[in-house]
Amino acid sequence: MTEHHIQRKLRQVAEALACTVPLVGNALGHIQDELALTDGYKSTTIGDGGSRSTAELTVVEAAVHARYEMTSRREQLRDDVEALTQIANSLREVALGALRYRTPQALLEASHVTLCSGKGKPGDDVPWIPHSRDPDNGWRDTECRREAVRDGMCGACWKRADRWAREHGFRSMVTVEAADYGYRSAVNL
Ligand SMILES: [Zn+2]
Repeated sequence: MTEHHIQRKLRQVAEALACTVPLVGNALGHIQDELALTDGYKSTTIGDGGSRSTAELTVVEAAVHARYEMTSRREQLRDDVEALTQIANSLREVALGALRYRTPQALLEASHVTLCSGKGKPGDDVPWIPHSRDPDNGWRDTECRREAVRDGMCGACWKRADRWAREHGFRSMVTVEAADYGYRSAVNL
């Protein structure tokens, strides 16, 4: 299946994000180190009972400012990761919701669309498990609601049915189709 452009974009974002993981790790380490540099100022300078000059206060203020800068950046990193987590969860939920949605049966019947059905074809009693590597996996997608375009089946189901038939000692679906056509032609004549 060719990659949809939305999927391609998502893959690019995911790859860029993966590259950002070590960068964020480095940033957190750096923030930790910088905070350690100013760690002593609050406890040793404030509340020591001694007199303070303007210069000392400036150092304290500078330390407070530096700590504020670093901690606010750490908070921002945390917030961004939290936002990404929520977006990633939303993306998964929307995709799952889309997969669960089915056009109402009544609507399809009203539009006279013939739905894919492999009933009566060889192996129609063996369900198909998507992504299975089981050599005995079936071909029939009992949930398939695509429009029938070939021999009562959608293109994807038809291909699976044909492969299954050939691999299990049945005639290829193409041969069966040709035979059917010959029969119908004979009847029409
Ligand atoms: Zn189908």
